[in-house]
Amino acid sequence: MATDAPPSTAAETPASGQAEQQPPLLSAVDPSASSSTTTSPPPLAPIRTERHPSSSSTASSFDSTCVTSPLTPGGAPGAPFRSPGAAGFGATGGGAAGVGGSGATSHDLSEELLAAGWRKFWSKRENRPYYFNKLTNQSLWEPPTAALPGVKRTLSDPAAAVPNHHHQHHQQGPSAPKRPSFGGPQALDAAWNFSVHSNCVTLERPPRRLFQPHPETELLRAQLIAKLRQHYSELCVSRENIQPPPDSFNRWLIERYLSDKGSDPLFPSDCDNELSYALFREIINDLPVRLCRPKLSADAKKQLYRYAEASKAMIESRVANPESRKIVKWNVEQTYQFLRQAKMPTYEDCLERLAHLKRTCQPHIEEAAKESVEKICTKLYHLSVEYAKKVRELQETLFKVTNPTDPWADLPPWSGDPKRRVRCYPVQICSPAPRPAAQQQLVETGCTDRMQFVRYGRDNSSQQGICRSVFAKLQQLYTLHCTEEDPSMEKFFPRLWCMLTRYQAFLGQQSQNTQAALPIPVFEAISRLFGVTFELFASPLNCYFKQYCSAFPDTDCYFGSRGPVLDFYPLEGSFEANPPFSEELMVAMVNHMENLLKEATGPLSFMVFLPDWRDPPTEALVRLEASPYNRRQTCVLPFEHSYRNGMQHCLERDEDLYVKSAHGTLIVFLQNDAGFMKWTPTSEKIKDLLIAFGQQSSHRRPQPQ
Ligand code: SAH
Repeated sequence: MATDAPPSTAAETPASGQAEQQPPLLSAVDPSASSSTTTSPPPLAPIRTERHPSSSSTASSFDSTCVTSPLTPGGAPGAPFRSPGAAGFGATGGGAAGVGGSGATSHDLSEELLAAGWRKFWSKRENRPYYFNKLTNQSLWEPPTAALPGVKRTLSDPAAAVPNHHHQHHQQGPSAPKRPSFGGPQALDAAWNFSVHSNCVTLERPPRRLFQPHPETELLRAQLIAKLRQHYSELCVSRENIQPPPDSFNRWLIERYLSDKGSDPLFPSDCDNELSYALFREIINDLPVRLCRPKLSADAKKQLYRYAEASKAMIESRVANPESRKIVKWNVEQTYQFLRQAKMPTYEDCLERLAHLKRTCQPHIEEAAKESVEKICTKLYHLSVEYAKKVRELQETLFKVTNPTDPWADLPPWSGDPKRRVRCYPVQICSPAPRPAAQQQLVETGCTDRMQFVRYGRDNSSQQGICRSVFAKLQQLYTLHCTEEDPSMEKFFPRLWCMLTRYQAFLGQQSQNTQAALPIPVFEAISRLFGVTFELFASPLNCYFKQYCSAFPDTDCYFGSRGPVLDFYPLEGSFEANPPFSEELMVAMVNHMENLLKEATGPLSFMVFLPDWRDPPTEALVRLEASPYNRRQTCVLPFEHSYRNGMQHCLERDEDLYVKSAHGTLIVFLQNDAGFMKWTPTSEKIKDLLIAFGQQSSHRRPQPQ
């Protein structure tokens, strides 16, 4: 099933007296967080919107119109949403339809509330009225007070008042108010748990100097990035006669962000080196043709023939030195001979030949194609720089920037304390004043049984669709983090639209591989067994915890993001890392983790999940295995586990939710002494973890009877 091998460096002595006392400040920020590793839900209580201790001073040190501060919710309870319970309450089926039996009595609701989807019903079980929103599937005991559903109302959800969600729908009569399904079928597989509080401690950080997201700039970015992808694709076809390697554009972006100092969050525009070696390697590797593992010997034979043909054609058509030309042609000739003579070559014979041909020809092919491929990479980068400039020009107009070289020049200095230890909190941003005009009026929405749509203006092409369960999740995240800053949630839709548009631009049509997530039972297990409360690689769309790092702080901070992982400096806490498949980012991640472990002031633990690629092993994998902080590692074998689909937020069918992993997954525990003491990866716990990896299929929605 799985291999489990403690590394040779595993012997550790417990750190004595190393764990620092938590300063009183921390318990003031989030009292519930001291027992934060538990996944059991907090008691239902009115939401408290405690500010981060510094945030009042932070906010007051700037013009309040300039600072957006999605505040830490402190001990605010998450909405009652737990995976195990979800399987129970989701089975109640489709929200509004189920409630209908009680008979609506909506006459005492205002026009505004009716238009927003609210209706009044009678609960036979509780013998009192309740309110149900057919657009969002929320239900409340108290009358709703505003058109947009807000957090206080979510927390008064009548179904949530029933303590045991597992048994709830069996106990209810047919006309009892059903638990909101938050988007129907997918709620059965609730993919998050916001009742887990953070155990991560960091230093206080100043607000980031970022422009707030604006629908106009996001729209322009989306249009320009589509154009950039198109250019890239055309360059690959016209110069090399290949389709772009799958996901290479996305990996290029991720790699570029590592050194980019430009001001645009999407378009790399100020990198150390304009040539991306990551992209160069990917394209070169697909020349002269892309090879994939053949299934049958006929496929293997065909690939061998194709590779030989393409090599010959390429070396003849490019500027290559005569020696290279001779070697390639001679090897191709040998291959033709082999194909002619061995009428029925075996699968293994063909693969062996192909490997030999590639080994001998590839260096010469690379030499011949080098200049042309470099041109693709640099052209792509130059276009990106140009597009970043266009977006910046629009931003300067929209935000009335008076000083384009430093739009933040007029803001008063930050008055926080960079030495203060605090419970981690989302990125706060300050942007040039004044805040853009009421953008929210420009966003329209609609929904179907499964999907929620948000669009900007009247243009259908700007429409974004997400599963309603994910929509409900994003509402929860937003209310958890922005209740104080935006109590009426009037900025929710524009911010949602901007975030969705950013991710759609970033991912393109299909980019599962940079977004695949761990199965839910694995998240439950790592939280329970190893005190994990935080994902280091995530997005608002795929996060399981309410605290996480993500690639885009400007759009994601309203939904709880702590910003990009390499800009995040935890001093203690227990973390999970499932990075996108970018070699450069993975190596940077290992470096970052080792530095953090060196500097940690309390227990620090990283559980890293990486593809077990060993042919040859990736640099990140080698570094992780050899790390002095590596306490233990284990591996789940290929095809014996699955990941959640990278497009889980907009899937049309539940059946596509899990994708079998064709590679093994290596799990490595990097911990300092105190982290090892506190969250020891014992054999017992590892066994539980591996069992959780095998459970994701049983976690799926039961088939309808
Ligand atoms: N949170 C899930 C899915 C991880 S997929 C899990 O832990 O299993 C990897 C995620 O990392 C993607 O959502 C991607 O957008 C995000 N990502 C990319 N670059 C990042 C960065 N620099 N910092 C943090 N997250 C990043």
